[in-house]
Amino acid sequence: MGNPLETKELMAELQSKGIRIKQGSSNGRQGGAGPANGKGLVFGKYQITVPTAGDSAKNSHYTLHEDGERPLIFKDGEVISEVELIGTPQFYGLHTADGVPYHKIALLHGRDCLASTVIQTCFRWHGEERCKFCGIGTSLSDNNTVSVKTPKQLAEVAEAAVRLDGVTHVTLTAGTTANPLHGIKHLGDCAGAIKEATGLPVHIQFEPVDDLSIYSHLKDCGVDTIGMHLESFDQKVRERITPGKAKLSVSAYFEGFAKAVEVFGRNQVSTYIIVGLGEDLAATLAGCTRCIEMGVYPFVVPLRPVKGTPFANMAPPDPKTMVEIYGEVAKALADNGLRAAASKAGCVRCGACSALPAFER
Ligand code: SF4
Repeated sequence: MGNPLETKELMAELQSKGIRIKQGSSNGRQGGAGPANGKGLVFGKYQITVPTAGDSAKNSHYTLHEDGERPLIFKDGEVISEVELIGTPQFYGLHTADGVPYHKIALLHGRDCLASTVIQTCFRWHGEERCKFCGIGTSLSDNNTVSVKTPKQLAEVAEAAVRLDGVTHVTLTAGTTANPLHGIKHLGDCAGAIKEATGLPVHIQFEPVDDLSIYSHLKDCGVDTIGMHLESFDQKVRERITPGKAKLSVSAYFEGFAKAVEVFGRNQVSTYIIVGLGEDLAATLAGCTRCIEMGVYPFVVPLRPVKGTPFANMAPPDPKTMVEIYGEVAKALADNGLRAAASKAGCVRCGACSALPAFER
């Protein structure tokens, strides 16, 4: 078996090129937010989700074969790597006391992260302001989830996910509610219930709001880490891709970051940065460095095509671009003492949507 790429470069390559599935494999999660339309793959201590949908993945040189003793990755018919797959967790087989299947409340992300889109609606979904890459309404219309998850339901599922599947941390996200504070407070209540039932560290994601006292409130609820997702530092890209969120200025995000770091500490605040939206590379690196210096981890990810969105067949960025960005961002992280492994909970700790943790020194 010969592998001309280092594992971290192979991970970046797979996330950009996608993978075709052969014999007996499931296509992974279909629809929804986060790592939708992807397959979870494990390379040693790193895990990634790899796109399985969209034109790019359908025409990928890479295929996953599960018919031998171990799952193997082929490139153009030649074996290039062994890989581990993430199996279906046991908690998916259970129902809540009120009859809802657990997998409609929360999903396993990566090997050990319990993730839920707590509010599966967004006030921007049915209009011009919807983010172009987002599939939050798709899972709901496909009946794969329920509209709003309660603190009690999430605590119940989290308890089972710890007991049956060894989950170690939680990511809670939500669409934005018409009054954003209402949604954020619901996330805080859910985090508190999970913390009380399991003691797990919990990460929540939301858009910044003017009320800076919200961070202390969330800390008091039991939230451990915060994500506020800018997606791009380029205002023109934001106006094109996230027209509603772009009405909140980049400065508003940085004001939120500063307050969040003050409350939660360095390395416990993060932002998703999507590469492949037509942004300027130098501006992206400058923005990431600005975040890192203030203690915010820029979780750099390649654009992922998600079914049912305007980006369904858009090509992810060239893997060489991703390798270059990962290398530069990893250097800035090291220079400023930030590490994915030091994040208590959430996407940075999970890492599956990015290959950045593998590039850290
Ligand atoms: S990085 Fe975040 S969205 Fe991606 S799989 Fe992990 S927890 Fe889910």
